[in-house]
Amino acid sequence: MKNIEESLDPEDWNTARELAHQMVEDAVSHVSAVRDRPVWREMPEETRAYFNTPAPTAPTPLGSVYQELRENLFPYSMGNIHPRFWGWYMGSSNFTGALADFLAAVDGSNLGGGNTAAAQIDVQVINWFKEMIGFPESASGTLTSGGSMANMVALNVARNAKAGVDVRAEGILNMPEPLGFYASDQVHSCHQKALETMGHGARALTEVATDAHYRMRIDALEAAIAADRARGVKPACVIATAGSTNTGALDDLVAISEVCQREGLWMHVDGCIGAFVRIAPDNADLVRGIDLADSVALDPHKWLHTPFEAGSVLIRDAKRHFDTFEMHGDYLQMQTRGIIAGPFLADYGFELSRGFKALKIWMSLKENGVGKLGRLIDQNIAQARYLEGLIAAEPRLELIAPVDLNIVCFRYANGQTDEEALKALNIEVMLRIQESGIAIPSDTTLRGRHCLRVAINNHRTRRADLDLFVQAVLETGQALEDEAAQSRK
Ligand SMILES: *Cc1c(COP(=O)(O)O)cnc(C)c1O
Repeated sequence: MKNIEESLDPEDWNTARELAHQMVEDAVSHVSAVRDRPVWREMPEETRAYFNTPAPTAPTPLGSVYQELRENLFPYSMGNIHPRFWGWYMGSSNFTGALADFLAAVDGSNLGGGNTAAAQIDVQVINWFKEMIGFPESASGTLTSGGSMANMVALNVARNAKAGVDVRAEGILNMPEPLGFYASDQVHSCHQKALETMGHGARALTEVATDAHYRMRIDALEAAIAADRARGVKPACVIATAGSTNTGALDDLVAISEVCQREGLWMHVDGCIGAFVRIAPDNADLVRGIDLADSVALDPHKWLHTPFEAGSVLIRDAKRHFDTFEMHGDYLQMQTRGIIAGPFLADYGFELSRGFKALKIWMSLKENGVGKLGRLIDQNIAQARYLEGLIAAEPRLELIAPVDLNIVCFRYANGQTDEEALKALNIEVMLRIQESGIAIPSDTTLRGRHCLRVAINNHRTRRADLDLFVQAVLETGQALEDEAAQSRK
């Protein structure tokens, strides 16, 4: 008898199987040939128009949907999987991770928690991260969408630990004193956003002055803490940065830990960029002291190249972490047997339903081992120093910040000194290079000086790619100067 009820399963599994094989074939071709394509290109009007149609009411065969997508999606991706993508701060993904994301969806488990193998993998990834960062076994942690959420989870635990009241019940209005948070003036903007969202307001965060390497000045931190105490604010938490977004600056974690110990403050490390440097054999010392923190945010979708998204946070005091987020409705009571007996992962963050993002991290770690992933970090740092060398050897280029990690800030100057003119020139250099598809640098402004910014967080980059890029900067800068001279005539 024919079944009259519908489902989302394919009507013909054999057709579905063939199509799935085709997708894998295409995926291998796409990723293996990435180097031969432009990094990025502007999409044509037809493509924009394709994405601007009403919700489909009638069905389309999946094969046709896929064909349309092939034509309209992949040619216009961000390009961060390309060897010459160095903009902002991305990871460059990896094929194993892509397969894992597919397998995770096939498994389909909800990682809110439960008595499943998927939950065991989630727990194991956190245990591996604790090992890699040097946190004790007794610490806790969670996987998050990204670094912003990871930092916010940590700030919530820190706030609840220092609030002076049961802040979950009483709210921040009933804290005896407002709390003070401290970070360097290079701190990532997500911390301000978190403190705004948590109701403390942006002014709860004091941005402490930095030194010539853009590291938090310890004397300025101590002064900020003392000033807050004097005006009735309770200093609660220092947010140290291990690898700043602007320049890759690394705060002195040991010195900050000493201040936190002495003053009774929570020490949080934003290690979204630098935490995994601890597994890099040649450079681990750059993040010395990270294991002293009360909490660390790390971002696997950056230097572990996990496909987006995957962030993580580790908390030394597991009980405080649990006490901050534990919550169970009547419909979600734990049992010691059955499917709900497993670890309840949602007790360690805000989200209840969670994806199986652990799998793409787990598979890549198993396949490559911590050793290789660490060496790739060393490789990027060495490449940044190589680029620094190219810039130092070229009189038309000017280095704007010390290269302490994997980020290089420089500009095409050719003897010019007018800041406004240099800014306009370098923005145009950046845009033309982006539009050419040769490479993707981004830009920033450091202490009033605008510059190009190259964040080498890419396992596919080779030194020859940096040679090519420097050549493109020189040619584009020269072309712009020539155009300007021409128009003055
Ligand atoms: C990228 C970054 C963040 C934010 O992480 P997302 O994963 O983009 O949310 C926070 N802090 C630092 C230092 C970063 O570089």
